[in-house]
Amino acid sequence: MVNDQAFKTWFEPIVPMAFRVNTLTIQVPSQFFYEWLEDNYVHVLKAAIEGVIGAGAKLEYSIIVDKGNSQNQPYTVNLPNSKNGYSQNSNDHHVTQSKFLEIFQNESNLNPNLTFENFIEGDCNRLGRSAGMAVAQKPGITSFNPLVIFGGVGLGKTHLVQAIGNKIKSQFTNKSIFYIDSLKFVQMFTDYISNNELKDFNDFFMQIDVLIIDDIQFFANKGKSQEMFFQIFNHMHQSSKQIIMTSDRSPKDLEGLQDRLLSRFKWGLSADVQQPDLETKIAIIKSKMHREGITIPENVVEYIAYSVDTSVRDLEGVLISLIAQSYLTQKEIDLELTKETLKSLVHDIDSDVSIDFIQKCIAEYFNVTVEELKDKTRKKEIVTARHIAMYFAKEYTSLALKTIGYHFGKRDHTTVLHALEAVNDLMETDKKYLNAIKEIQKRLKMKAI
Ligand code: ADP
Ligand code: MG
Repeated sequence: MVNDQAFKTWFEPIVPMAFRVNTLTIQVPSQFFYEWLEDNYVHVLKAAIEGVIGAGAKLEYSIIVDKGNSQNQPYTVNLPNSKNGYSQNSNDHHVTQSKFLEIFQNESNLNPNLTFENFIEGDCNRLGRSAGMAVAQKPGITSFNPLVIFGGVGLGKTHLVQAIGNKIKSQFTNKSIFYIDSLKFVQMFTDYISNNELKDFNDFFMQIDVLIIDDIQFFANKGKSQEMFFQIFNHMHQSSKQIIMTSDRSPKDLEGLQDRLLSRFKWGLSADVQQPDLETKIAIIKSKMHREGITIPENVVEYIAYSVDTSVRDLEGVLISLIAQSYLTQKEIDLELTKETLKSLVHDIDSDVSIDFIQKCIAEYFNVTVEELKDKTRKKEIVTARHIAMYFAKEYTSLALKTIGYHFGKRDHTTVLHALEAVNDLMETDKKYLNAIKEIQKRLKMKAI
């Protein structure tokens, strides 16, 4: 189901363009729009289209690259819907095995848009990115074999491993590269077994030089698939072929995977990707907007970076909504539009206000710097501001005391606890103090979301 807000943002701007032999072409306002629809709503769209046209219906996007003007038509490019070939959707089971092989044999299954060029480097991903670069230069021969990139949802794992694949593809034209996520691997494997075509399956994997398996946590408790993967892994590793994997957690914390498989993963390198830090967020916002041909004011960039504190994917979601809002209302992207848009989106992202944002607001209110909130100063007004910032961090975010302390110059959780007690005491006994807190609360709410 799609809620009103999402419908307004994502579906209203869609313009049906053409319908030819089972293929519906829809026009979308930008590349971003296309990617967002593909990532989030492809099943909704497919189901709707199949409902009307019937099985075998195909979707094609026409993307506006240049909006044009009254004299010139917009310039567009057409892209097929990426899930036309093979989809996890159970309705698509009529796709035959041989078709499957055909698709995969000719294709590495890589998304050409996910490259190193548009993968922003930051403290949060430096190790993984460098290791990935090294692997891309010399697939199979570095000690990073296997290379495991792990970390939370939307932090760039898939982008990074796809970038490695794309780089290898461009540099080593004779190497065969194959990207698949573990769920599809399991599905493919099951399909082959039920068709008694295990040999084909095996042959297919034996000819691969670089295997990229995404989200291996989904191998959990799939014993037969793990067994198969174990054999493929051994074969590839022995022949110095490169294996690249991603996981939502460190390999040592993976549950439901056989020990012998896990112990193999230790042969190479595991690198994590973390939540983006402020600088990286700013760089990502600028780069994405640049790619869309949009310039936004510095204060808006900062505002977004401070407000979105979850993942790069959420950050992108905000940018896409902003672009969409600006397009729909024909307004420039300024602070006002940004606040409006964030207000309506924030529940989708995370109801938390970010701790960075709180620190910045409180620092402004007390006319101190964020650094002073974090450093060791015991000056009275700074201590007051620091305590109040900790208080709001506790009130408005779901962060643990330990994490809050960390964000305040690596203080420990007892310091935070002490600050909370101090603030609560003062609110009870000092009317003026209580009023100040209320005032700050109002401002935070106004400024934030
Ligand atoms: P994951 O696989 O970890 O869930 P993805 O690789 O799908 O995350 O990333 C989510 C989105 O964020 C993608 O659109 C990706 O292009 C983008 N992204 C993530 N990290 C970066 C980065 N460092 N630079 C640019 N875009 C990024
Ligand atoms: Mg992913």
